[in-house]
Amino acid sequence: MLASAKQLALDRHVARLVRCRRCPRMKSTPVSGGAVVSEVMLIGQAPGPREPTLKRPFAHTAGQTLFRWFEQFYGMNEAAVRSKIYFAAVCRCFPGKSPGGTDRVPAPDEIRNCSSWMNEEIKILKPRLIIPVGRLAIAQFIECTKLEQVIGRKFRAQRGEHSFDLIPLPHPSGASPWHKISPGKQLLARALRQIARHPAIVDLRKGGTRCP
Ligand code: SF4
Repeated sequence: MLASAKQLALDRHVARLVRCRRCPRMKSTPVSGGAVVSEVMLIGQAPGPREPTLKRPFAHTAGQTLFRWFEQFYGMNEAAVRSKIYFAAVCRCFPGKSPGGTDRVPAPDEIRNCSSWMNEEIKILKPRLIIPVGRLAIAQFIECTKLEQVIGRKFRAQRGEHSFDLIPLPHPSGASPWHKISPGKQLLARALRQIARHPAIVDLRKGGTRCP
């Protein structure tokens, strides 16, 4: 697909996505990072309570940590990351709070409903690299019973007819200290270095992408 056709297809996709109302238990309308044509996709879990108002994914505290990692390891500030990487999520709407007061984990039917959006994005963008952030996002592609077994490693994964590299990251939210203490701290640094070396990220940092 030519770059202009890809942009058009993604524009149309995002316009449809933000109108989606498939899941009646969701507490917000979909949050989108915009139609950024990229060979790198970042997949979060689901927006928190602030993102729908701020109208972009990773807009609050978890985002601050995530963008700090990108700045530190790739020299890309938040604006550069948002303009060069396509942001997706397992679910695009805020699921509401669980009885314990934490953000509710999306239910299997909601994850199923929303997976078609991600599948279509992979079909349009044909990414070279996907970065799933957090256990739920990682588990959409590979088995993830323990973060220690997947963080710091690169995998080859497939969705439909397209295969791509997968480098998982832990969730940057303050809810879990996993990435701040050993061995998570070292494994996170290893994963961030692997992402920094990946050719798709090297191209992004140079300011371009490979010809489609
Ligand atoms: S979670 Fe996904 S499938 Fe469900 S309403 Fe939101 S955008 Fe649609």
